Amino acid sequence: MKAVRLFEFDQPPRLVEVPEPKIGGPLDVIVRIAGAGVCRTDLHLVEGVFKDGMADKMPFTLGHENAGWIEEVGAGVPQLAKGDAVILHPQPSCGLCRNCRLGNDMHCTGPSFFPGFDGTDGGYAEYLRTSARAVIKLAPGTDPASLAPFADAGITAYHAVKKLLPIIHPGTTVVVLGVGGLGHFGIQILKALSPARVVALDTRPERLDFARRLGADEAFQSTLDGGVNAVREVTDGQGADIIFDFVGEHGTPDTSLKMLHRGGTYSQIGYGGSLSIKTVDLLLGEYTIVGNIVGSYNDLAELMELNRQGKVQITAQQFPLEDAADVLHELDAGRVEGRAVLLPAGVRQGSAPRATVGASAR
Ligand SMILES: [Zn+2]
Ligand SMILES: [Zn+2]
Repeated sequence: MKAVRLFEFDQPPRLVEVPEPKIGGPLDVIVRIAGAGVCRTDLHLVEGVFKDGMADKMPFTLGHENAGWIEEVGAGVPQLAKGDAVILHPQPSCGLCRNCRLGNDMHCTGPSFFPGFDGTDGGYAEYLRTSARAVIKLAPGTDPASLAPFADAGITAYHAVKKLLPIIHPGTTVVVLGVGGLGHFGIQILKALSPARVVALDTRPERLDFARRLGADEAFQSTLDGGVNAVREVTDGQGADIIFDFVGEHGTPDTSLKMLHRGGTYSQIGYGGSLSIKTVDLLLGEYTIVGNIVGSYNDLAELMELNRQGKVQITAQQFPLEDAADVLHELDAGRVEGRAVLLPAGVRQGSAPRATVGASAR
């Protein structure tokens, strides 16, 4: 089958021919990929941000944001059958450790893997092997290709917003920093689940209208000052109560602290940069700093329900799998609106990005 694999760091991934994955254990599932979302993490993988300990795992197939149809299941998976439309939690977890039992899939301490990220083969391919633990079944007839980005960009935004819902009240000003793949979900999720006044910031002027169409109350271009003055102006000089930093690099963590209200919360989602604050400033501002890593299986199930209700939609552009390297380049240049999705040859381009969630997601 065709797969886009990362052979060495700082070099674009390449389309090559590889053997199809095979069922190994009883909970294994082979999924025929309909679409794989292109994520900034893929750029960070290429850049070598995660290169420590990866040397003996190269090359591997990228793609951790996957949806498709069941092709084959192991002996212990009676609930799934060939042809079922599915979306996949990115990190199949063990299901037996305490964290899994608490629903914190991302903190699984048992045997777990992360296809397309940790050296295990991902979904920039025609077929992917994962575990039944990761599968959320979609109703028959759902077009999985257009929904793939919910599997990572979507749940990551959902997880971050849901965590802070208890401190969002009428009158709370929330900044969404970055209206790309993650931020475009973040705005919709905030408006669907909270009474927040949402202020969106982006460096690109064309993204401001996009943000308003998604429900942002106000949108400003983050020019040289990173948007600090705009946020201060619309908050009577006080700053925002909460900042969701969907960028996390190019200086956004530092500018975020400059536009945060005293007692405010900085929630980091995008990454690649660093955050530096003097302890005395942390004390005086009484800030809360929150990290986020992807989301749980239940986060994804809940998000797919919001999508089914029409409350969180996806804006995505579809490209052939062969164009992966070019699409990563476009993402790096900030020229993708919403999310880019790669489709293997033979998968019909879809257009109706609304899920109908099957009973197993409940
Ligand atoms: Zn990702
Ligand atoms: Zn576990």
